[in-house]
Amino acid sequence: MAGFKTHLMGSVLSGAGIALLAYFDKKLNLTQASAIFIVGSIGGLLPDLDSDTSKPFALLFQLISVLIPSVFFLKANSYSDRSSEFIIIYFTVSYLLINYTLRHIIKRMTIHRGIMHSIPFTVLSGQLGYLLFISSGANVAYIAGISVFSGCLMHLLLDEFEGFKLKGGFIPVFKRSKNATVFKLSSQSAIATFFVYFIILVIFMMIYLPSFKQKI
Ligand SMILES: [Zn+2]
Repeated sequence: MAGFKTHLMGSVLSGAGIALLAYFDKKLNLTQASAIFIVGSIGGLLPDLDSDTSKPFALLFQLISVLIPSVFFLKANSYSDRSSEFIIIYFTVSYLLINYTLRHIIKRMTIHRGIMHSIPFTVLSGQLGYLLFISSGANVAYIAGISVFSGCLMHLLLDEFEGFKLKGGFIPVFKRSKNATVFKLSSQSAIATFFVYFIILVIFMMIYLPSFKQKI
């Protein structure tokens, strides 16, 4: 299983690759491509949110406690009186809810390398990336989704293979991790598995069925 530094390197590489593609091929502007890079890099660390002890992941949680409310700020602000008081309350409450309440729930509900190290969680992360960027249009949202998905997939790959050796001196053969595979479609917990598949289905309907989208 790969460590934090390896995962960080893998996710930065994956995020940078998709961002470069988005900038040069899909003609996204520099700000959009930079945001794609950031979410892709974070995506590559997401599966280890269930490792509740390490410092880097406490830092990651603090980061998403600021990023998520920032994404929804314009929408929330349009329902408010647009005062300084609202901004203070909005960001403080969001930060506390995500960094403490949500973190505590995830800590209680997950086991390390359970459902968060699986193909369905990777799909779900990609969908969340899409939803985060939906206000910027479907094109940007798709690329954001792919960026998060690729980062997550890179994480699983790095966890799955401990390294490689050269067979016959020149053919690289990947060495599988001794632990259970992370390329799985379910976890030991039936509830966690059902929950993730259910959310995937709901988001899928939100994205592809306009009539369902209007009801939400
Ligand atoms: Zn991991």
